[in-house]
Amino acid sequence: MKKFIALIFFSGLILNIHAQKPEETEDWSRKPEVVTPGKGMLPPSDAIVLYGGAGDLDKWESEREGPAKWTAGEELTVAARAGGIKTRQSFGDMQLHIEWRSPAEVKGDGQGRGNSGIFLMGKYEVQVLDSYNNLTYYNGQAGSIYKQIIPLVNATLPPGEWQAYDIIFKAPVFNEDGSKKSSPYVTVIHNGVLIQNHVEILGTTEYIGAPKQTAHPAKLPISLQDHGNPVSYRNIWVRPL
Ligand code: MG
Repeated sequence: MKKFIALIFFSGLILNIHAQKPEETEDWSRKPEVVTPGKGMLPPSDAIVLYGGAGDLDKWESEREGPAKWTAGEELTVAARAGGIKTRQSFGDMQLHIEWRSPAEVKGDGQGRGNSGIFLMGKYEVQVLDSYNNLTYYNGQAGSIYKQIIPLVNATLPPGEWQAYDIIFKAPVFNEDGSKKSSPYVTVIHNGVLIQNHVEILGTTEYIGAPKQTAHPAKLPISLQDHGNPVSYRNIWVRPL
């Protein structure tokens, strides 16, 4: 009897294997575009370079009005009280690479030390802060989603050293009546270390009070914060997804 059952089982298995062909599970529907990766962390062939180091700020403007007034050379440095800057182009879902450096000369502490920030869609801040031996509230340190999500670990390098964020962002979607259909999600890799793992952003970054969930366009500029500290940026590129 046992042999008989085993025979039925194996012949069923063989029949099943023979009923399907390997080609049935091959997907030929979308051919991935060829992209040439950049050497090291240089932009790949399909990226939009937002700051390449030639000293031109043509991809940026002031958050207030008119041209961006930050110091632009090989690197781009916050000019204190000039206000934040934003990209002329708008972005939704994206992969963003950005390198930053907090001042080598340590001044201030907590939120006053090497503070800047990357505002995705101008609304959701990935914090830039000199968090190397610098205590502040954990959801306000480098790599936090400011006032919302503490980074998994602190991968901050010493002040004066270049650091990298690789950010993968999924923009929120709103219904026609302005209610939220889906939240924004973000993944952040800091100097090669995963610090935000596909986390849900609950709403806009607010200094005081809870995040807000007000409807906004599907694409908006990326902005960089002027928090009064001379933080520098370089090698900024984005791949709209
Ligand atoms: Mg900030």
